Amino acid sequence: MVGKKRTFIIVGASLAGAKAAEELRERGFDGQIVLVGAESDRPYERPPLTKDYLRGESDRGSNFVHEEGFYAAHEISLLTDTAVTALDPVAATVTLSGGTELGYDRLLLATGAEPRRLRVAGADLEGIHYLRTLADCELLRDRLRGGARIAVVGAGWIGSEFAASARQVGHEVTLIDPGAVPNERIFGAEIGSFYRDLHARHGVDLVLGEGVESFEGDGRLDRVRTSSGRAIECDFAVIGIGVLPRTDLARDAGLGVENGILVDAGLQTTAPGVFAAGDVASAWHPFYGGQLRVEHWSNALTQGPAAARAMLGETVRYEHIPYFFSDQYEVGMEYSGYAPHWDEVVFRGDPASGEFIAFWLCDGRVVAGMNVNVWDVSDQIRTLIGSRRTVDVPTLTDPDTPLGSSVDIATSRS
Ligand SMILES: Cc1cc2nc3c(=O)[nH]c(=O)nc-3n(C[C@H](O)[C@H](O)[C@H](O)COP(=O)(O)OP(=O)(O)OC[C@H]3O[C@@H](n4cnc5c(N)ncnc54)[C@H](O)[C@@H]3O)c2cc1C
Repeated sequence: MVGKKRTFIIVGASLAGAKAAEELRERGFDGQIVLVGAESDRPYERPPLTKDYLRGESDRGSNFVHEEGFYAAHEISLLTDTAVTALDPVAATVTLSGGTELGYDRLLLATGAEPRRLRVAGADLEGIHYLRTLADCELLRDRLRGGARIAVVGAGWIGSEFAASARQVGHEVTLIDPGAVPNERIFGAEIGSFYRDLHARHGVDLVLGEGVESFEGDGRLDRVRTSSGRAIECDFAVIGIGVLPRTDLARDAGLGVENGILVDAGLQTTAPGVFAAGDVASAWHPFYGGQLRVEHWSNALTQGPAAARAMLGETVRYEHIPYFFSDQYEVGMEYSGYAPHWDEVVFRGDPASGEFIAFWLCDGRVVAGMNVNVWDVSDQIRTLIGSRRTVDVPTLTDPDTPLGSSVDIATSRS
């Protein structure tokens, strides 16, 4: 007698969810897979939405995670335009937006993140935009066709990349951020200054050290008023002030939630049979010895499949060292590691040359590294971080010494 096939449901049809579905089939899972997504498109990648696709340099089809026929060919039921509105972890059921109830044997929550909203006077005026979805990007892409004066609020990744792309296609851009330099919290002053100068060189008007007091206009946005009272006239504004994990479903179902859905190193939530991955998951990280929520592409790419393996009963220990990349103008970079605090930043190569590696050191160990226009070194940087050994700074920073030797000569003060 053939046993009843198992049903695995994945909530969130984006990178983490789509890669999890792919992994289930790759590993030979022959039960039902239901991939539920609130958006109208099949799963797509978001990085091009501030880069080439936004600038009109790539076509729509290149954004998708899989070819159009992939889901049908792999017998993955992809439900687009459908939200999961409720989860009952005791009955092991989810409710879909149309009211249908589905039972599951395993559930993956890959509900991602959404932009944090700026709640100041005038925040509802027409002409104030956020950028998270393909639809958001396409609206902005259309707006970038005519000449425009754009106020970008927030010099984090989304704001900085949007500002760079808008300049590259010829618009006037003012970038506003309360920090002294872009991405100050992650990078500190030195690398932050590198990015500040990069934007300035490309003609961005930087308004740093100031927040937004209000948006002004009659029905539609005319100007942004900063905390010092300065008025920035603009045709529209784009706000990038961070994201919040989409945890409502999990919280309402009584799952552990604290800055993301809490999962263990095997990506299991506090409810048996329910897993979480991607931007929404705050996972116990064995290497760092704490919960870590990572809002980057590479994490969604690898954590989704890791969760799929856990759903299949494999023992999973997810300890990927965080990694992300960013492209702004002629500067491409990769950042590996996690550095909530550090003692010093040292450089291999001169930042002024535009090609260098920066290392964040804590207690003589490399905790993060960023290669700028230098390629094929991020594995070595991750090895350095993973070794937890103290490094010899003159060797580490000498461009003529192979980077690998910094690990070899790492002393064992640890
Ligand atoms: C514009 C942009 C540019 C980026 N560029 C970079 C970059 O250069 N480098 C980098 O490392 N990272 C970048 N990122 C971050 C990266 O895209 C994210 O880390 C990644 O998308 C996370 O994938 P995810 O699957 O976890 O979640 P998400 O991509 O957020 O997807 C979650 C999906 O779940 C759906 N959903 C939520 N709740 C429900 C529900 N109840 N029912 C059904 N569906 C639901 C949502 O609609 C969404 O489609 C960028 C992000 C953006 C927005």
